[in-house]
Amino acid sequence: MDFSYSPEDLAFRDKVRAWLAQNLPADLQHKALHHQRLKRDDYVRWHRIVHSQGWVAPNWPVEHGGTGWTRLQQHIWEEECARAGTPPILPFGVNMVAPVLIAFGNEEQKRHYLPRILSCEDWWCQGYSEPGAGSDLASLKTRAVRDGDHYLVNGQKTWTTLGQHADMMFCLVRTDPDARKQEGISFLLIDMKTPGISVRPIITLDEDHEVNEVFFDNVKVPVENLVGEENKGWTYAKYLLGHERTGIAAVGRSKRELTFLKRLAARMQQGGRALIEDPLFAAKLASLEIDLMALEVTVLRVLSQEAKRKAPGPEASMLKVKGTEIQQRLTELMVEAAGPLGLPFDPAYLEGEAAHSAGGDDDAAPLMPYYFNYRKTSIYGGSNEIQKNIITQMILGL
Ligand SMILES: Cc1cc2nc3c(=O)[nH]c(=O)nc-3n(C[C@H](O)[C@H](O)[C@H](O)COP(=O)(O)OP(=O)(O)OC[C@H]3O[C@@H](n4cnc5c(N)ncnc54)[C@H](O)[C@@H]3O)c2cc1C
Repeated sequence: MDFSYSPEDLAFRDKVRAWLAQNLPADLQHKALHHQRLKRDDYVRWHRIVHSQGWVAPNWPVEHGGTGWTRLQQHIWEEECARAGTPPILPFGVNMVAPVLIAFGNEEQKRHYLPRILSCEDWWCQGYSEPGAGSDLASLKTRAVRDGDHYLVNGQKTWTTLGQHADMMFCLVRTDPDARKQEGISFLLIDMKTPGISVRPIITLDEDHEVNEVFFDNVKVPVENLVGEENKGWTYAKYLLGHERTGIAAVGRSKRELTFLKRLAARMQQGGRALIEDPLFAAKLASLEIDLMALEVTVLRVLSQEAKRKAPGPEASMLKVKGTEIQQRLTELMVEAAGPLGLPFDPAYLEGEAAHSAGGDDDAAPLMPYYFNYRKTSIYGGSNEIQKNIITQMILGL
């Protein structure tokens, strides 16, 4: 198999690399490269810059605003963004709800929501998980009862990422409590400003406000906000989850982080020499780099299969497990390299409000919160244990 890029793909890579060099604002790049926290306006600003170039939704059909790039070109774009240090384009609108609307939404829903997702007029959040329904998502209990021209929604969602900023939620609700659990679920689009919705922060180990609980108390949702058919929401929910896991390997970002780690380890001293020359540390670094190279080749293999088939298959589970394991190992080695320099908690620098860290080492200062934050990667998007179940059943046939 030939994994080298064709001359056309190399020309494409050079084009996006040049565009990024000209258009990525230095302050956003600095935050991304230094593990500082992004604010709502940072995400929106970058989204709109990419939208002005028409590149915000490479995976959409061209008639709805997609780029017409091949799957490999989309991958190159993601790689180049990671390499340059761009903020992410958040997945909830572009990569999650939009593919569902394109596949199952009615014409009015497509006409109304898709342009607003492209321009980031609406910030979307994902209302799937509940306190008793995570891995076993089909057990969800949030209830929607049809009452004339609207549904009345009551219940609770949890772990809602960046829901504090959201204008809209795509939400799984139970519309038939008597049917088999997968069959009584519907997919609703809910305006977060509707009376009866309250959003409560969950503060994580790194003292960040990234996730929330969302409560629904007699929330009126117009029936035209139902996607597809009532009680068929499980089909749409699964279709969306397939899209959620592609790209989750984040090879480009891990390559950038590996370069960062090597630079840090070359600067830190241990036993009178640079840490990177310590045989034990160097062996851990080498093993990580080999795994990352293997993952990159696997991603390319999956991409070439995906080009022939339409939906991403169970291989996405493999990429999720290996990708997140590598991301977590990177953060572990970063903390090991930073040593005591990573210990002081410096919110002002983390939030980008101070030019330099109080601890004196700007590279090391954000690494401990970054390490804690990345514990999430093996849980969200379907926990790694669940992905391993999928691999054993669907790939290994056990
Ligand atoms: C940072 C973060 C952001 C998130 N963002 C969102 C969001 O925006 N929207 C949203 O809807 N959800 C979100 N989630 C929720 C996420 O999808 C769930 O946390 C995840 O599906 C796991 O569910 P749970 O937390 O209820 O754990 P549980 O399902 O209770 O699992 C607990 C443990 O048991 C293991 N386990 C469970 N069942 C099995 C099994 N059958 N076989 C083997 N092991 C098993 C799990 O792997 C896990 O280790 C987010 C989660 C996190 C941590």
